[in-house]
Amino acid sequence: MTPKLPPLRDVIARHGLAASKALGQNFLLDGQLLDRIAAVPGDLTGETVYEVGPGPGGLTRALLKAGAKVVAVERDRRCLPALEELSQAFPGMLTVREDDALAIALPDVLPDGGHIASNLPYNVGTALLVQWLTGEDWPPRWKSLTLMFQREVADRIVAEPGSSAYGRLSILTQWRTTARMAMPVHRSAFTPPPKVMSAVVHITPKEAPEGVSPKAMEQLTAAAFGQRRKMLRQSLKGLPGALDCLEMCGIASDRRAETVSVDEFVELGRAFSLLSSRPQR
Ligand code: SAM
Repeated sequence: MTPKLPPLRDVIARHGLAASKALGQNFLLDGQLLDRIAAVPGDLTGETVYEVGPGPGGLTRALLKAGAKVVAVERDRRCLPALEELSQAFPGMLTVREDDALAIALPDVLPDGGHIASNLPYNVGTALLVQWLTGEDWPPRWKSLTLMFQREVADRIVAEPGSSAYGRLSILTQWRTTARMAMPVHRSAFTPPPKVMSAVVHITPKEAPEGVSPKAMEQLTAAAFGQRRKMLRQSLKGLPGALDCLEMCGIASDRRAETVSVDEFVELGRAFSLLSSRPQR
């Protein structure tokens, strides 16, 4: 049975959790919305969920109510007493660590695998996503990512070639995961409301193409989209061997990165990985 919990507004007031801009604190207080977000990964009964930035614990409650065991990492120690109360309401189901999520190694929080869910702090959200997407081991330790981003970042994650949002983040996400826009979230849903709209994306791993290293994909996409308006022959010039790979893959060097599909980037990545693995003379 779900324990009776005090309204989140009371928790925030009682623990003096005035939102800190520096920590990207925009809290979600609407229980129904939080339940809908917690439902995005599917049935969580008995699953472990790693949550970044639980804050006063809105999403944490929803995940616990959905039957998950939650391991949460929060940087703001002011939130810890509120989270301790939540932990007592769900005995044995919630572990909280005071830490910087950027410094967390996934085996420490998901030793046996699980899901990741977070209303991410905007200042570190993209860095964390890239960290989770570019691990050497695949399939990764996580079964799914359910993440709130600024709408503009969410659009970039799921974008298709040719669109203005298509870029490095689209390719780093889509080359070995399936990503979908799960729900838009209006800025007024947050306390305090941020300036921009948000959205939840849902990402699940798929089989990785063989012979492609994440490092090669990172290097190629960084170079190609570093100067997105330029032709590939120009933007890839500074990456030794990349122009040869372009030719080997039959990708015309007068194209711009934004027209190159994810599959074409994978081909390029395969050629570049092979080249990078050869001993240098
Ligand atoms: N989960 C809460 C909610 O949905 O209402 C809070 C979300 S708020 C957008 C982001 C949270 O991440 C804040 O509680 C903030 O203190 C925390 N945070 C910010 N930077 C962090 C970091 N580097 N590592 C861990 N937590 C961080």
